[in-house]
Amino acid sequence: MQTPENVQHKLRELAADGKTLNCYIYDTSEMCNKIKLLTDIMPAGVEVFYAMKANPHAAFLAAALKADARGIEIASLGEAEKAVAAGFDASRLIYTGPGKSPEELSWAVENGIRTVHIESLTEAYRLNAIAAAAGKTQDILLRINADFDIHEAQTTFSGGSKKFGVDEEKLADVLPQILALDSLNFRGLHVYAASGVLCVNDLLKNCQLVFGMAKQIEADFDGVICDTIDFGGGFGVDYLETSHDFDPQAYADGLQHLIEEYGYQGRTFFLELGRYLAADSGWFCTEILDIKDSRGKKQVICAGGINHFRRPAALAINHPLALVRLQREKLFDSQEEIRNESVYFGGPLCTGADKLANDVYVEAADVGDIAVFGLAGAYGLTMSNMEFLSHERPQEIVI
Ligand SMILES: *Cc1c(COP(=O)(O)O)cnc(C)c1O
Repeated sequence: MQTPENVQHKLRELAADGKTLNCYIYDTSEMCNKIKLLTDIMPAGVEVFYAMKANPHAAFLAAALKADARGIEIASLGEAEKAVAAGFDASRLIYTGPGKSPEELSWAVENGIRTVHIESLTEAYRLNAIAAAAGKTQDILLRINADFDIHEAQTTFSGGSKKFGVDEEKLADVLPQILALDSLNFRGLHVYAASGVLCVNDLLKNCQLVFGMAKQIEADFDGVICDTIDFGGGFGVDYLETSHDFDPQAYADGLQHLIEEYGYQGRTFFLELGRYLAADSGWFCTEILDIKDSRGKKQVICAGGINHFRRPAALAINHPLALVRLQREKLFDSQEEIRNESVYFGGPLCTGADKLANDVYVEAADVGDIAVFGLAGAYGLTMSNMEFLSHERPQEIVI
């Protein structure tokens, strides 16, 4: 990875202050480009939502608004409030997630959000009672735990026993009950197979299976139309720098083909993308406080660890890494340095689990340099153990 010029420039400016450097730097121009590109190339009827759990920072919501994303996919009341504060009308919010509280559902109904994605029969009855009491009808999608999974993916949301949605084989029992609830308006299906998928054909296979499911439902239930189909997220990011980026044009072409094959022109399709939009708009930048040799292996200790950037440890992968060299003076002559070797990066926490990168090749690094972890714009700070060991919260700097 190369650290972009503007990020390097900002880091050198911050380093001149003399304060220990430990921050996220955000530049959301790439996120805007991606949203605009997808909006341009996707088939008619496809609407792009930003799945804000990837990064709820105001800069990312502002980028989604500026680039004219159709709306925001939320999964809590807190997210709803942030999205509205950022300028999204509640009618541009779609609401997913297992375990929505009565308070959260009431907010959704009162504020007229676009769709609530029903994850269980209990939730359907609960939402129906809330909507009835408010004298309103709420549009819903039914989330289905499909009976297939995408094997390549690291995290699957569908297939096997899952806490998401209603098992596909229970539809015959569950759907009539949902259709009978007067204050809910069934609009269609939500099937989110897996996240972090780089292979376009795997995701298209999912689209095809979901279309097949919709067709079956329409055949089995008189008068039912799935006019909205939500494919979830899933566009992957090349964290391991294999040069095999997700190809959105191939996806768009494949989806167009399927829409024609199934005669689904005129229907609405949701994409709720998190990491694909946000990942390359953020860098976690942390100062090297110490370098030690321990039994023949170099251990690099940074100012921030899993308390600020948990994702590499949580998923056991190395994010792209680059160094910003600051040529600081050594404290003593034999102070350790890194020169063309594979080393370990960790943070300051008093636990062996505090790892940032394992066995990663580094050309040169010294104490006082800045380690820059790329693709950190998604699932960075808010997915981390921020309170653990009570270190200062890293700044989030927007450039
Ligand atoms: C997390 C999540 C997303 C976003 O997933 P990405 O892999 O970041 O694109 C989309 N939809 C739902 C329901 C989610 O839970």
